[in-house]
Amino acid sequence: MRIYIDEPRAAELFWEGMREVAAGAARHQDDDLYRAIVKIGRGALAQGGELVPQCGLFLQCPVCQAVAGQRCINVPRHPLRENLLHPERTELAQMALREEVPLPPPLRDE
Ligand SMILES: [Zn+2]
Repeated sequence: MRIYIDEPRAAELFWEGMREVAAGAARHQDDDLYRAIVKIGRGALAQGGELVPQCGLFLQCPVCQAVAGQRCINVPRHPLRENLLHPERTELAQMALREEVPLPPPLRDE
């Protein structure tokens, strides 16, 4: 079953909602909630949803180690400029959501 939503901002709204859930997960340091977010995100992609760059927020940054839900911070040789997130983090999140790479810790299932 494919869901068609006649709303040009559907993908944006979806991920905005996911970010709000992620903010709650960050407040409560709830890794299970992040795993649920990843699961929902994968479901959305399977339904033909699109990724947005901000989905990097759901995972720990491989560059500055900002945890899920936290914005990236400037570190030597990796200035953020106008970006909220390091590009490496966005790329990792997109690949992890597409299951091309394993989830980074602490979300990886052992
Ligand atoms: Zn970062």
